[in-house]
Formats: sequence, C-alpha cells, structure tokens
Amino acid sequence: MIAYLEYLLQENQPETMAESDEIPLLSAIDLRGTIEHNSPLAATDFGGMQNTKPLAFIHPAGSDDISKIIRHAGRFSSMTVAARGNGHSINGQAMSNNGLVVNMKTIKKICVKRINFRGNATYVVDVGGGALWEEVLKRCVLEHGLAPRSWTDYLGLTVGGTLSNGGVSGQAFRHGPQTSNVIEMEVVTGNGEVVICSENQSSDVFYSVLGGLGQFGVITRARVLLQPAPELVRWIRLVYSNFDEYTNDAEFLVSRSESDESFDYVEGFVFTNNDDPVNGWQSVPLNSDQIFDPTLVPCYAGPVLYCLEVALHYSKSDEPSAVDMVVERLVGRLSFVEGLRYERELSYMEFLLRVKRDEQQARANGIWDAPHPWLNLFVSKTDIAAFNHLIFNQILSHGIGGPMLVYPLLRSKWDNRTSAVLPEGEVFYLVALLRFTLPYPKGPPVEELISQNDEIINRCIRNGFDFKLYFPHYNSEEGWKQHFGNQWSRFVERKAKYDPKAILAPGQKIFRRNR
Ligand code: FAD
Repeated sequence: MIAYLEYLLQENQPETMAESDEIPLLSAIDLRGTIEHNSPLAATDFGGMQNTKPLAFIHPAGSDDISKIIRHAGRFSSMTVAARGNGHSINGQAMSNNGLVVNMKTIKKICVKRINFRGNATYVVDVGGGALWEEVLKRCVLEHGLAPRSWTDYLGLTVGGTLSNGGVSGQAFRHGPQTSNVIEMEVVTGNGEVVICSENQSSDVFYSVLGGLGQFGVITRARVLLQPAPELVRWIRLVYSNFDEYTNDAEFLVSRSESDESFDYVEGFVFTNNDDPVNGWQSVPLNSDQIFDPTLVPCYAGPVLYCLEVALHYSKSDEPSAVDMVVERLVGRLSFVEGLRYERELSYMEFLLRVKRDEQQARANGIWDAPHPWLNLFVSKTDIAAFNHLIFNQILSHGIGGPMLVYPLLRSKWDNRTSAVLPEGEVFYLVALLRFTLPYPKGPPVEELISQNDEIINRCIRNGFDFKLYFPHYNSEEGWKQHFGNQWSRFVERKAKYDPKAILAPGQKIFRRNR
C-alpha cells in the first residue's frame, strides 16, 4: 500500500509521452472499431475550460476492443485511457492528455428483458455504457411502456458517465440515485479483464465502479431496473419566501419516500426576488400564459426566494378528480406563499425531456457552447440554513445566469458499498450552481466565476460545513484525501486491485500513471 501511494499524482505533474511511442502503439492494436486522429471532440468537454491533446480518439466496436486498448496502453510507461461518455464533465474528467480517449457512444445497445430478480419476475434493460439516457427513455417507453425509475434532469448524458458519479434528480429521494437502480454490469477493469459483476458476483468490482469516477473500470453494459412507465405528469411549482418553511416542506415530502401518497418527484431551486430575466420571478411559471405577481411576495422577503418543484405520475384512466384529490391532500399541508402556485399537465416523456427544450434555446443563443464553471455540492441538512444565509443570500443574491438547485436527498437510498461519498446524516441537500453566461466580453470573465466558486467552497470550509463536492475536482492528493475522508484508504485499495498502473480516467487527476 505504501509503495503504491508513492505513485499518487503530485500537483500539476505533467503527463509525458514520447512522439516515437505513438506509431508502434496505434498500429499494434488490432481493433474491430476505428481510430481517429486530431478529434476536436476528444480534446474538449462541456465545461469548456480545459483543452488537451489526446493521441487518438478510439471508436471501439465492443468490450473486447476496450480490453485490447487498456492492455496495450499498459505496455507503455505513461499511456492512459479515458472513457468519454458524452463529455458533459466540467473539469476535463473525461480527457487524456497525450493518451487514448475511448468514444463510449459507440457502445450503445439497448435491450429490454424480463428476468428473475430476487425471486420475482422483473423487467430490466441491458444498456451499453455509452447509450444516452434519452435513448434509453425513448426505447423503453415507446416500445415497451416501461421506464427506469431514477433519472437525471438532463438526459443527454451516458449511462456509464452518470453511474461513475451517482446520477440524481427529483426521483432519487424515493428510488435512490441511478447507481442504486443498477443490478448488474459488464466492466473492463484497468487490468484489461472483462468482468460481469453484481451484488452476488464479483461484488467488489460492482460496488467499486458505481460512483467510482471511472477509476476502476470502463462500464460497457449496465442492467437497469424498470417500472411501468407513467403516462401523465402533474408538474407543480410552489413559491416560498422563508427558507425554513421551504426546507421543512421539502423534507416532509421526501420523508414519505416509502409511502404511496407522496409526490413522485421532489426538487427545488432558489431564484432572485426581482425581475432578472434569467434568475428572477419569471423563471417560476410553467406556461407562457402564467404570470408571477410580485405583489404577492411578502414585503419582509429577502433578496432570494425559493421554489419547491414537485410532480405526480398518473395514467390516462385515472379520474381527474382522484388525481386532484391526491394533489390537494399533499399541497394542502405545505406552507408556500398563497397565490404563487403554478401547475401544468404533460406527458411523462415531455416531462423527462423538459431540459432538452432549454438546451435547444441555449444552443440558439450561444450559451450552450460557452464555458460552464459549474459547481455541484452535497451539503448536510445541519448546515443548509447557514449555507442559504451565507451563499444564496450574500454571494449569489444576484443570480448566476442559470438554475440554482437546492433540494433534499436521503442517505439511506445510497448504497454505502459504492465509491460515492456523502455528508453525514440521513438528509443532505444537492446544491447545483448551473451557470449559463455568454462568453467574455459579452458575459463575465470565466476566471471571475471560478473565483466565486472558490469563495463558496472556502466559506463552506471556514464555517466548518459538512459538505462534499459532487463531480469532485482537486489538483492535489490532500484535496482528494479530504474529499474521501475515511473512505480514502478503501478507494486507494480498490485502485491497486483493479487499475494498479493507473491507466484509467487520468482526467480526474487522482492517481498518476505508474510502472
Ligand atoms: P463524461 O463527462 O464523458 O465522463 C465523466 C467521467 O466518467 C469521466 O471520468 C469518464 O472517464 C468516466 N466515464 C465515462 N463513461 C464511462 C464508462 N462507460 N465507464 C466508466 N467510466 C466512464 N448529473 C446528475 O446527477 N443529475 C443531473 O440532473 C445532471 N444534469 C446535468 C445537466 C447537464 C447539462 C450537464 C452538462 C451535466 C449534468 N449532470 C447531472 C452531470 C453529469 O451526470 C456528469 O457530468 C456525467 O459524468 C456526465 O456524463 P457523460 O456521459 O457526459 O460523462
């Protein structure tokens, strides 16, 4: 273990690869797939703040190709391999400078089946690690009337990419993150071995890889649990001026995760108490014919307000009055500002694809392709009120040009055998600062936004908040050690077992390629 630790990445250590190594490497891999040179896609990501020069972008035909690539890379002293899902990372996590980037989007087979799981006939979908969740949704719902239970808000992400982190949205309070909804995977480890793993078979590989930041293996297939797809969704937004009332109500709803009578989706966000076109009052209504009446906001409200966002699934055959009754029984217990309630009916597919419409708009006005210095945190329930006071009401009181999500999740819905790390306590909050601004000089310089993120993290540290970065990004071993806390040694042991040469996911900057 100690010898292994010596190989850990030192701060800003450059990765090196002699030019002369390039030719023997690539020509020696006998692949069914193809190799592309100078791919701009492999050199960038959604964050748009890092640029690397990969040696090649490989489009594998199957897990056998990925195994060959990894084994081959192992023969070169500094060669690394990065699985690239849809490249929606922020800080270069799916990149490999001077190494090989694998285009996982070629591994995208989707197959729905019925199996026996824990003694019950159960519908599941076997999905290639590079399939987009949007593709999974369409195939499962349109062809089989079935759907995975746990999603991300935006579905242009790959199955392997979100399972390497967690994968959360408003269903996670009930069903757990996406990592809690996978029952089997095919993984190619950093040793080049193709392993089928589950809770009963090679279970250590299974749990290592889930939430494992791509460090232990490449997910080439995942078996995801399905449920009958709901047909319709009642989508509701409720406004709060008081943070304690907001969190009490949100926590009341998520605490009913085992009850049939709760919403199927619970999220929420902070918005500015003004007419800011992006973060202000108008970000709340769900339809263009709905208006936000600011005179209804209590005069003692602060610079920011809160919006609880909930949704109820139902089917076409349900009586509208019965759906209304369930909604009213739940909403009736909540303390939102009277008159500031918005709702809309839509199909389940429309609801799950709601962020796609925002993507199209953002692409059209140039903010999709601009840099995105996003910050995602998990903050303990014990510190969320202070976080609201110091961060939302002070640093971010003018908004960020995009959504500021804050909603509760339950630790008991996460499996602590996975590699993901969370704050202590049963309830913690996802805080997502999803900045969308025009590129400088039309928008603020990206450095300014990064330093605002740093200030937020520093305030959390200075105030002793119990928090974890979601999609963590550190440049030093000390940062990673602190991130993993008492799980650090387990993470290092897992690395030593499944990727001892530290070939995989170099863009996470946790371990340094060795031997
Ligand atoms: P990439 O960015 O390509 O890769 C991420 C990491 O996983 C890299 O280290 C990569 O090497 C590794 N990796 C990729 N594929 C595999 C594989 N098959 N096997 C092993 N390792 C692999 N997250 C949420 O939880 N909820 C949300 O609602 C949500 N919404 C988002 C909306 C947008 C617009 C964006 C940009 C991101 C959002 N995210 C959300 C974050 C997203 O889940 C992560 O950034 C995720 O890693 C992106 O998936 P990807 O396929 O693009 O992965």
